[in-house]
Amino acid sequence: MRNDTLDLLRCPYCGGRLTLVDSLFHRRDGDAIRDGVLGCHCCIFPVVDGIPVLHLQTSATTALDQMKGERPDLARRTMFGLDDDAHAAAFDAVASSPTATYRDTVEALGPNFEGGYFLYRFSDPTYLVAQAVVRAVGAAVLGGSRRAVDICGGSGHVTRTLLDLSSAPPVLADLYFAKVWLARRFTAPGCEPVCCDGNAPMPFARGAFALAMCTDAFMYIWTKRQFVGEMERLIDASRTDLARPGAILIGHTHNERTWSPSHGQPLSPEGYADLFETIEPRLFGELGLFAAVVGGGPLDLSRRDAPDTLDANPALTIVASREPSVFRAHPLPPPPTQASGELRLNPLYAVAAEGDRMRLRLEFPNAEYEDEYGACREYLPEELTIERAALASFESGRVAGDAIELLRRKVIVDLPKRYY
Ligand SMILES: [Zn+2]
Repeated sequence: MRNDTLDLLRCPYCGGRLTLVDSLFHRRDGDAIRDGVLGCHCCIFPVVDGIPVLHLQTSATTALDQMKGERPDLARRTMFGLDDDAHAAAFDAVASSPTATYRDTVEALGPNFEGGYFLYRFSDPTYLVAQAVVRAVGAAVLGGSRRAVDICGGSGHVTRTLLDLSSAPPVLADLYFAKVWLARRFTAPGCEPVCCDGNAPMPFARGAFALAMCTDAFMYIWTKRQFVGEMERLIDASRTDLARPGAILIGHTHNERTWSPSHGQPLSPEGYADLFETIEPRLFGELGLFAAVVGGGPLDLSRRDAPDTLDANPALTIVASREPSVFRAHPLPPPPTQASGELRLNPLYAVAAEGDRMRLRLEFPNAEYEDEYGACREYLPEELTIERAALASFESGRVAGDAIELLRRKVIVDLPKRYY
């Protein structure tokens, strides 16, 4: 954990600054804190493998005792939920291997950790919308140097889209240690992970961020009013010299009035709007945002969706900001000329070789996936044929020729290095 991240942290319960307790066991990597114990006015919390654990669930208090007992290895096993010694040793071997992939690491955590859907995450319709909105709003408020926080960001898939928008690394906050650990290692390398509870006050200083965001998780938060009040606090710059306004972004939250899979405990559109006390939010139906992204843009955030349009949308995006340049039509950026990770064939395609060519056919992993994400048919062709040589050329990571359109349609995807 970097020192500039420690500066932003506050105890979720007393609001006090957190500092390293020098009298207890600690280890540093250069300036960064790798393992140790943080203290405030009321409490102490462990830092495990560079990740501050700022909640008081049983795992955290056990890991704290192990850290105080100078056993950071056991504290890490506790935070990964590995209580069987043989399983823990097998996991440690994978976690310390420089060639292990995201998939290897997920599999080493065991079958209950995460479904197989992460394989397809980067081409999901909901991901495409989240990526476009985050990049539009982030570019408007981060100004290349301010910080963002992705709350309940899980294994960092959307956090990845923030990495090149600011020189200061984004903070990724989630309750699940394993997920934020995976994010820092694979999906969003360089992000600063923090382990905390979305149903408790957030462990950050007032005005610490220019963008506070949460995608595909808000309908599972019970303390929604507190959560939004905390987001307003995190971007409140009234006590700093930086008068430029920040933004709150809640992406892909379900709608009480229209059923969707994994429904959660959603509110109605006006219920969501009422959560905001200091900044007026704007709500967007995601069907319209999706159509704009599939159509090649622009992503028009100056639009005002009518109440009956919002009611009929299974998922909503909420943006609140006093920065006027957020609410305009944002052109979609062209594909980059160089992959940020590795260009790979989308795993939703079954491949059959035909001489020098490959025949690709869209095949969903199961009916549930198709129910939830079938809208990907709007950009993924049912069938296509590509040259075997073209596939080999993607390995260089250079995006040119056929790759531009294939990348835009998500037939090939720009994945984190060592993803699977
Ligand atoms: Zn405290």
